[in-house]
Amino acid sequence: MAVRRPLIAANWKMYKTASEAVEFVRRFLPLVAGIPDREIVLAPAFPALEAVASALKGSPAALAAQDAFWEEEGAFTGEVSPRMLAAAGCRYVILGHSERRRLFGETDATVRRKVQAVLAAGLIPIVCVGEREEERERGETFSVLDKQLRDGLKDAFTVDPGRVVIAYEPVWAIGTGRTATAAQAEEAHGFIRGRLSESASREFAAGVRILYGGSVKPDNIAELMAMPDVDGALVGGASLEAESFARIVAAA
Ligand code: PEP
Repeated sequence: MAVRRPLIAANWKMYKTASEAVEFVRRFLPLVAGIPDREIVLAPAFPALEAVASALKGSPAALAAQDAFWEEEGAFTGEVSPRMLAAAGCRYVILGHSERRRLFGETDATVRRKVQAVLAAGLIPIVCVGEREEERERGETFSVLDKQLRDGLKDAFTVDPGRVVIAYEPVWAIGTGRTATAAQAEEAHGFIRGRLSESASREFAAGVRILYGGSVKPDNIAELMAMPDVDGALVGGASLEAESFARIVAAA
């Protein structure tokens, strides 16, 4: 059996200036100092990346960006390349978050180009997939996940499974306080792993980490993490406060 090290990632969205982010790190690191065996990842907004990278030096926590463009450089006003993110100290890049799909027109095709570029830069994509509420109600959860995996992620199917992370984030659970039940999360994670076993390989499916995201809190993380196919969490709102995120890391 592949060992999948639990990964707990904070998605700070468009919150925290660089100095606010550094202040978080200063409070947070002592709170998680004695917690072994899990990977901690912080994803601040672009302007805070370098400051957070410096603040994390010497700590086991890693840095992530919340998006990346697919080109290396060029006339792409407003965009940031994976190469720039690597130079700023990132190890991970969140891609295809539902807010980017819903508000900024991101599609499986653009996610695919970004996944390729992020992998080429030696960074690890955290690729978000998940169904909307109406899709779940129509019984389309699995077909939505299947399409997102196939169309967005297929170029990653041949890489080492440690070089890719998937985040299952049901859109109806993000920022709503409505967490998926542990059984609902496990059902989706099990489906994703099963599809990867067929489309990629058994080794890839067994080794890739699948995070759950959607209203994760200190008091529901343990139940979610107890599920065999839940390998960690992507946390929005409850990651903005050092004490709350540290409690999630400790209980994971
Ligand atoms: C997210 O934005 O990825 C997320 C899961 O947010 P929240 O934890 O606030 O639902």
